[in-house]
Amino acid sequence: MNDDDSLYSDRDEEFEPGGQPLPDVFHSFYEERPFRCCTSCGEALSDLEETYQITKTYHGSEVILEYAMCFPCQQNMLKELSRESVEKLTSFQLERSLEPDNDVSLDLYQCEFCLRSRTEAIENQQHFSMAALCFGLQMVERPLFVCEECMLEINEKMSEQTRRRWRDFVDTHFPGVPADALPDPTTIPVL
Ligand SMILES: [Zn+2]
Ligand SMILES: [Zn+2]
Repeated sequence: MNDDDSLYSDRDEEFEPGGQPLPDVFHSFYEERPFRCCTSCGEALSDLEETYQITKTYHGSEVILEYAMCFPCQQNMLKELSRESVEKLTSFQLERSLEPDNDVSLDLYQCEFCLRSRTEAIENQQHFSMAALCFGLQMVERPLFVCEECMLEINEKMSEQTRRRWRDFVDTHFPGVPADALPDPTTIPVL
């Protein structure tokens, strides 16, 4: 793990396995700085010995849901969803991922499953989700972007029960997110 951010800035090269600095797009919009704590349990992210995930859902350029979640909380959340839904989600990700070469330095993101661009989603005022797997202030894997159409396609595969439990989870941990901010109140960011 290299924590000298300056090593990677202004360098046009492939993703380094050691990670790359977290781009601003994954900072907390509400706090106007990088996330400091797990949104769910409050644990300081800098103290974690495991990775954590940042997920943000947008409507055009507006952030409507954002959270940082430590690994144990993420596992707990998955337990709240039905096993069948989690399996469907996992197999969709495995079968349909096109592994786009998202470039943080150029702010270029393409949908994981159809390659639509984030720029297009913003121009068309669509919903989309983004996620980054992090350790400290570094991203340890390429960032993910999922467009509205693919997000809704995956959501259709989720059981009603899973979507309700997800919504309960959002209401419990992120009470500021209005139900009508999402295409459907129970929309899961699917990342
Ligand atoms: Zn947590
Ligand atoms: Zn897509």
